[in-house]
Amino acid sequence: MDQSESEFQSQVIAEAKRQGWRVYHVYDSRNTSDIGFPDLILGHPIQSRIVVIELKRKGEKPTEAQQLWLTIFEHAGYETHVWRPSDWDSGEIARVLIGVGKRHIRRRLDIAPFPERMTAEEFREALRVGRIER
Ligand SMILES: [Mg+2]
Repeated sequence: MDQSESEFQSQVIAEAKRQGWRVYHVYDSRNTSDIGFPDLILGHPIQSRIVVIELKRKGEKPTEAQQLWLTIFEHAGYETHVWRPSDWDSGEIARVLIGVGKRHIRRRLDIAPFPERMTAEEFREALRVGRIER
């Protein structure tokens, strides 16, 4: 019952989009770009965050080339994550996507488009009650 990486990826992409993230997905970096380039680059217009994601199957580690790219992004100041299906199950992915505990959230509610499932009012309320930290 090992979940394939592409299924897992579809799940993550769907949830990210649901939360208002713009999603750039590298279809197959082996043929089209530098080896090891991360699977997903997510950008959030309200949270003002860019998140760089490498997806792995259960028990898999990033290759050396993947780790190099993640390190480059990290050193350049980007938030990077390696996610496996267990991170979905534990709620870690949801926490990162909603921005809990991240310092990157800035208040730019007035200029940004809103996620389909959260209005500006709902977002402000979530901040107010502490469901999302600033
Ligand atoms: Mg991957």
